[in-house]
Amino acid sequence: MPELPEVETIRRDLTKKIVGKKIISVEVKDKKLGETKNFSRVLVGNKISAAERIGKLLILKLAGGKFLLIHLKMTGQLVYEDREKLLAGGHQFINNSLLKRGVAAPRGRGVFLEEIGGKLPNKYTRFILNFAGGRKLFFNDTRRFGYVKIVDQKELAEIKNKYGIEPLKPEFTLANLKKILAGKKINIKAALMDQQNIAGIGNIYASEILYAARVKPTRPAGSLTAPEVAKIYQATKAVLRNAIKHRGTTFSDYVDTSGKKGNFSKLLKVYEREGEKCSVCGGTIKSLKISGRGAYYCPFCQK
Ligand SMILES: [Zn+2]
Repeated sequence: MPELPEVETIRRDLTKKIVGKKIISVEVKDKKLGETKNFSRVLVGNKISAAERIGKLLILKLAGGKFLLIHLKMTGQLVYEDREKLLAGGHQFINNSLLKRGVAAPRGRGVFLEEIGGKLPNKYTRFILNFAGGRKLFFNDTRRFGYVKIVDQKELAEIKNKYGIEPLKPEFTLANLKKILAGKKINIKAALMDQQNIAGIGNIYASEILYAARVKPTRPAGSLTAPEVAKIYQATKAVLRNAIKHRGTTFSDYVDTSGKKGNFSKLLKVYEREGEKCSVCGGTIKSLKISGRGAYYCPFCQK
C-alpha cells in the first residue's frame, strides 16, 4: 500500500500538474464509486485549487468549496497523462511484458509503477478526470479497495478528526509520541501503524523506522524506555523525510517505455529483505507475522 511518502510524492506532483486546471469531464468506469452524473455535477467546470494530504489520503480541493478525496488503499494507482508522457504513482502493476523488457520488479508489494506503454484506460481504470488541453488523470485499481468521493467541508473535518498526528508536522513532538505510546500493551509496530495515533505509516515504513531505531517490532509500546522512544521519534522523521526525498518506495518518475521506478526501494534496509544480510551487523534479517502483516527486522541489532 502506498504510505505517507508515496502519497506525499503524488501530492507534490499533482500540485504541479493539475492545480489550477479546469475539469471538462468525468468518466466513472466503476459503479462501485457512484454515478457519473453525481460526480459531473460537482466536478465539470470546476478547478482543482490545491492538492492536500492527510495520512495516506489525497485531498483535492475544488475551487467551488468541495473536496475530491482519493484513497489508493492496497492497489490503487494514479496516472497523469500529459500528451505523450505518463506520470504514475501508487500501486505497481507488475506485468510480464514489463519483466520481459528487463524492468526489475521493485522491492515491496503494494508498489507502484504502471503498465508502461500500455494503453489507458485499461480494464483496471475506475475513474478518469479529463482536463482542458487533453490532459487526463486515471485512477486504476486492480482490487478495488480504493475510493474516490466528493465531500464538503464538514464531512472532510469529520474524516480528518479520525486521523492521528502527521509525523512531519510540528505537532509531532517527542512529548506527543511518549503520550501515544505510554501504557499501551500492543506491539510498537502496530502502534506506529495505527492511523489514529500517527497518520501515514504503514507496513514498509514501520519496519524501516524500527530498524533505524534498533527496536524490535514485537515490543509492547508501553515497555519502551525513554531513550528508545526518542530514537523512534528521530527515526520516524528521518526515514519518512528520506523516503520523500527519493520519491517513495512506490513511485515512479515520468514513466516512458524504459520505465523508471521509485528510488527508495534500493534504500530499504529490512522490508522484504528476510534472509539477506543486515548492513550493520552482517546478521540475517528475519521476518515474522504481527497481526497478519509481515514485520522485518534484524534479530541482532534490534532489542
Ligand atoms: Zn543487524
